[in-house]
Amino acid sequence: MNKNFNFSTSFRNSSLVKSVIDEIQKTITKKWTLMEICGGQTHAIMQYGLDQILPKELELVHGPGCPVCVTPLGQIDRAHAIAILPNVIFCTFGDMLRVPGSSVDLFTLRARGAQIKIVYSPLDAVKIAQENPDKQVVFFAIGFETTVPANATSVLQAKALGLKNFSVLVSQVSVPPAMNAILNSPLNRVQAFLAAGHVCAVMGYWEYHPIAQKYHVPIVVTGFEPLDLLQGILKAIQQLEKSEFFVENAYTRAVSEAGNQVAQRIINQIFEPCDRNWRGIGIIPMSGLGLRKEYEEFNAENRFQVGHIMTQESEICIAGEILQGLKKPVQCPAFRKICSPTNPLGAPMVSSEGTCSAYYRYAINVEED
Ligand code: SF4
Repeated sequence: MNKNFNFSTSFRNSSLVKSVIDEIQKTITKKWTLMEICGGQTHAIMQYGLDQILPKELELVHGPGCPVCVTPLGQIDRAHAIAILPNVIFCTFGDMLRVPGSSVDLFTLRARGAQIKIVYSPLDAVKIAQENPDKQVVFFAIGFETTVPANATSVLQAKALGLKNFSVLVSQVSVPPAMNAILNSPLNRVQAFLAAGHVCAVMGYWEYHPIAQKYHVPIVVTGFEPLDLLQGILKAIQQLEKSEFFVENAYTRAVSEAGNQVAQRIINQIFEPCDRNWRGIGIIPMSGLGLRKEYEEFNAENRFQVGHIMTQESEICIAGEILQGLKKPVQCPAFRKICSPTNPLGAPMVSSEGTCSAYYRYAINVEED
């Protein structure tokens, strides 16, 4: 790296950004469709207008990497059923409060008197359980591999403390099975992936080699700044133009092939792969991380017997197609009309990482898409 490179400013430096865009322009000769997996990357692309300055031959579609968006409706309704119980303190990250369930959201339930607390770490929920021995404290353990180590640590800590009033409502998911599902779909349009740098910082990228080889797709591990994203796009285009398909790391300052093995050990100690329902997409085999038998005592679904809840999705929301890269938010009839961040019909409009929310906040020239 150039010795004049400044880590706090250069990733947004306009002349460096322009040089990579010029390189992409020189490299690209055909139409290609790339998917960024991560909702944080989607927001960065829209916020910095990268979609507006890339060559027209390149289409970016947005993947299912927003954890709030893919949490299935059934699990949201289960959260609601638990949160309204009189003896429960329900703890969650703030993003989940406005996610609509079949009838209401957690925000509404809190206004009606349910004890719902926003926490910044699952360990805060463990502390609340220690401080409230006469209450059942439940943490809504959603997310991708980035949040799972902290969720696992909370279970370990609760066990070490002998807490009988702490449990987790689990809806955790893994990225590689979702990539497989997207590529297996007969409707698939994705020809290359930008893999999420923060997930790979935890998990490494060794799991992606078989995917690149099986489906002939370049997979480039990519960060979140404009220069990171453009370099990831450039590397993917270079591979596509040469008919090469392998995993490449464009985020070496944070990611190694093996990832964080301490975090992986903690994950594997508490959780194991299981089938998981993704909101709008359906069940993806072995795409979830559920509690191992040895830790079943911390499973809120069993503790509160909310396993058999029936759900009712919005008939208008096309989030499932958006999360698979098949449609864009502007193709949803509700977008900006009856669906907005203050009145969301679906999770992608609620979450700070949701694609619909990114389009609502940042998109220009999208009506003619
Ligand atoms: S704009 Fe609203 S209704 Fe349409 S897909 Fe997005 S969240 Fe669903």
